[in-house]
Amino acid sequence: MQKPENVYVWENGVREPSGGEFIELREDRTLRVPDRPIIPFIEGDGIGPEITPAMILVVNSAVEKAYGESRKILWVELLAGDKAEEKTGERLPQETLDFLRKAVVGIKGPLGTPVGKGVRSINSALRRAFDFYSAVRPVYWMGQPTPIPQPERVDVVVFRENTDDVYVGAEFFPGTGEALRVREFLLKEMGAKEEGFPEDVGITVKPMSEFKTKRHVRKALRYALETGRRNVAVIGKGNIMKATEGAFINWAFEVAQEEEFRDRVVTDPEAEPSEGQVKLTKVITDQMLMQLVLRPDAWDVVIAQNLNGDYVSDLAAALIGGPGFVPSGNIGDGYALFESTHGTAWDIAGKGIANPLSITLSGAMMLEYLGWKEAAQKIYTAVRKTFEDRVGTPDVASGFERMGVSAKAVSTYEYAQEIVNRI
Ligand code: NAD
Repeated sequence: MQKPENVYVWENGVREPSGGEFIELREDRTLRVPDRPIIPFIEGDGIGPEITPAMILVVNSAVEKAYGESRKILWVELLAGDKAEEKTGERLPQETLDFLRKAVVGIKGPLGTPVGKGVRSINSALRRAFDFYSAVRPVYWMGQPTPIPQPERVDVVVFRENTDDVYVGAEFFPGTGEALRVREFLLKEMGAKEEGFPEDVGITVKPMSEFKTKRHVRKALRYALETGRRNVAVIGKGNIMKATEGAFINWAFEVAQEEEFRDRVVTDPEAEPSEGQVKLTKVITDQMLMQLVLRPDAWDVVIAQNLNGDYVSDLAAALIGGPGFVPSGNIGDGYALFESTHGTAWDIAGKGIANPLSITLSGAMMLEYLGWKEAAQKIYTAVRKTFEDRVGTPDVASGFERMGVSAKAVSTYEYAQEIVNRI
C-alpha cells in the first residue's frame, strides 16, 4: 500500500510534522480541535501493519470528501509492541507516552503480550498512564452476516469501567503463604466463615471505588444525553456482591440525582423519559445477558463494571458477527485512545486477508470524538454499502456464503479501496 503524504512514519525517532497543530485539552477537559490536527497512531503487532494503513486510507478519504482541503489529519507513527522492541529495545518507549500526552487523542492496532516472558501488558500500561477510565464499545449492525435474526435490533453502547474491579490484580494463589495469611486475617479478624475459606483457597480481591464509579457513570450519562439515547441500564449482581456491585449501582443512582442530571435522568421505574431525557434502570447482569439475546433493542446504553463489561461487550459484539466488526475507545478526562477490539491474529498475519473494519470503525468513532461527525457518517454509509454489495475480506465473504448468499472476497487493502470507492 502506498504511504499517503500526510503520514509521518517513525524514522530513528518520532517525526513531528510541520503545518500541523496539537489538539488542545482545555481546563474543563473539553477539546479544541484544530483543522490540521496531529493524530498519533500505533500500527500494532500481527495484522496491525495491514489493518492500520487500511484505516488511514479510509479516514483520509472520508475527511477529504466531507471537508475538502479545509481539514486534514496529520498522522504520526508512534512505536509500541514488537516493532518498538526491535527498533528501540523497549516495548513501550517513553517517547511514545510523551507524544500521546501532547497529542491528547490517538488510535492503535492490536498489541500482543508475549506469554511467559514476565512482560507487562502494554495495553494496561497505556490505560494506567492516561487514566482511560471508561472503555466505550458501540455495537451496531451494518449489514454484515450475523448469527441472529433481525440484527438491526442491536444498537447498544457498552460503557465498561476500565480501572477498578478484579483487574487491579490483588491475587493470592492457593497454597501460598500470602493466601494463608489473607485467609487467617479474614477468619480471625473479619468474621469470615471457615466453610467459605478452606485451607486450599485462592483469593482474588474485587475492589470498587465510589470516585471511579461515579466519574464513569457521569461519562456514560453525558454520552446518552448528548446522543439522544433513551434507555440506559446499570448492571451488576448487587444482590450477591453488595459491597461492590451493589454499591456501584447505588452510586449510579446517586449520580442521577446530581444537579447536572437531576432533571434529565428519569429513575422512577414506572415513568417514561420525555424528549431530551434518559431513563436509568437497574438490571441484574445475568438478566442483561439474556435480554441482549432475546430483545436486544431494549437497551441503548449499558453501564457496567470492569468484569461484567468485559462479558457484556463480547456478547453484544457476537450478536452482530464478532469483535471484528466493533470499534472501541479508551476514554479518560479528555485523553482518548481508539483501538481495534480483536487481537493480533498471528495465524493470518502477513497474508493480506485481515478484516480492517474494527480499527476503521474506531477511526470513525475517533472522528466523532473530534466533532468531525460528517466524515464519520461517510464511513458508516460506505461500509454499509460494501455489505449491501456483498464484498468484504474472506471472513465476511464466508459468513455470507454460510447464509447461502454469494459474496466477493477481497484482500485487506482491496477492501479499504472498496470502502473508499463508496465514500
Ligand atoms: P485474536 O483476536 O488475535 O484472534 C482470534 C481469532 O480471530 C483468530 O483466528 C484470528 O485470526 C481471528 N481474527 C482476529 N482479528 C481478525 C481480523 N481483523 N480479521 C480476520 N480475522 C481476525 O485473539 P487471541 O488469539 O486471543 O489474541 C492474540 C494476541 O492479541 C494476544 O497476545 C492478546 O493479548 C492480544 N490482544 C490484544 C488486544 C488489544 O491490543 N486491544 C485485544 C485482544 C487480544
